[in-house]
Amino acid sequence: MLREIPVSTHSRSQLLDITAQIQRVVSESGIKEGICHIYVPHTTAGLTINEGADPSVRKDILMELDRNIPWDGDYHHLEGNAAAHIKASLVGSSKTVFIEGGRLILGTWQAIFFCEFDGPRRRRVLVKITGG
Ligand code: ZN
Repeated sequence: MLREIPVSTHSRSQLLDITAQIQRVVSESGIKEGICHIYVPHTTAGLTINEGADPSVRKDILMELDRNIPWDGDYHHLEGNAAAHIKASLVGSSKTVFIEGGRLILGTWQAIFFCEFDGPRRRRVLVKITGG
């Protein structure tokens, strides 16, 4: 079963906590033990798992990505969003999370973040759950 979650972002760079939406897909699947694959089919957005409790962590991640990969760099890509492509490659486009007892197995402070690097846009996240 492949499920699609629509995501709307509101700024050029944004880390959006999508843990609850992913957990909802897991719960609706009825699968108690298995694997949840999460995939972002975009070239200027990605996924990361990191601290969800303190919002300053996601601010720091975005700040340091911006510092290291500035928007106005000496890039070749003519579309003007090379920085977004590079950041998307660095964070990656997929994550795998284990499922036990119908719940995503995440650390106490972990959350799943959709990473927008060239927003605001309407995006989508694909989720595939396999049992076993
Ligand atoms: Zn581009």
